[in-house]
Amino acid sequence: MNRPANLDVLLEPRPPSPLQEIRDDRFERYGVRLLLKRDDLVHPELPGNKWRKLAPNLRAAVAGGYGCLVTFGGAYSNHLRATAAAGRLLGLRTVGIVRGDELAGRPLNESLARCAADGMRLHFVSRSDYRRKTEPGTRARLLAGAGAEGAYVVPEGGSNALALRGCAELGRELRGAADVVAVACGTGGTLAGLAAGLGPGQRALGVPVLAGGFLGREIRSLQTLAFGAPAGDWSLAEDFHHGGYGRVPAPLEAFAAEFEARHGLPVERIYVAKLLWALTELTASGAFPPGTTLAAVVTGRP
Ligand SMILES: *Cc1c(COP(=O)(O)O)cnc(C)c1O
Repeated sequence: MNRPANLDVLLEPRPPSPLQEIRDDRFERYGVRLLLKRDDLVHPELPGNKWRKLAPNLRAAVAGGYGCLVTFGGAYSNHLRATAAAGRLLGLRTVGIVRGDELAGRPLNESLARCAADGMRLHFVSRSDYRRKTEPGTRARLLAGAGAEGAYVVPEGGSNALALRGCAELGRELRGAADVVAVACGTGGTLAGLAAGLGPGQRALGVPVLAGGFLGREIRSLQTLAFGAPAGDWSLAEDFHHGGYGRVPAPLEAFAAEFEARHGLPVERIYVAKLLWALTELTASGAFPPGTTLAAVVTGRP
């Protein structure tokens, strides 16, 4: 197989993403400094935490001689999109196992169409199979059904032990730069790795975008898998999911649009908007003492 010219570039460590201070009276009024960790700029095609989580897995897949990557996601998954793009860049085949067999006969939405355009083969499965995808029997059947036996398996959302180690690097890049580092959470893998990489005296704050309250347990078990034990100082602010995954009520939309206009930052709505909203509300409620430096991780772009 041809070794694509960008293979080395893709797999090499990248320079730290930029850290920008922004001026915003909703924070300054309370003596809080707000920094944006621009992880949306870390890689042109695999932005943000998707790059952090995928890169170590891609290295492992290439080193292990795998020709195909298989992973899992919903119809709007950023992770599926990033995996498809990585496959195209690396010359690896990709298979996406997608939640919802009712989607199989329909036109692809924009997100899935981009996956397909990057060469990802999409395999739609029922919601009940999808829910059981980590049970060994179900998983073997799903992989066989998708023609992906023997492929390198990346879990849903990309959160495995290697991914957490990739995200720990994000924490190390922020050592000494902030008192509190905040990030939006889906699977919690990014927070789990980030917290482990921060220095003494720093803490991580996660803002779950899904309702449910199950994430703390997930994060502890991910950390145990990756580091042998729970790691770092972290907590969750559970009240900012705005009704659940993918929900963007009008006030949140207005907040995000205003933030974009005010700061010239493209605000991704599913995760980043909820993070910035939460930090604004928490600051106003006195959650951060005057003199606090907050860093918000911009994990992706619209
Ligand atoms: C996937 C994603 C997240 C969630 O990351 P987890 O590690 O699953 O918690 C956050 N922000 C953006 C922009 C994402 O695409």
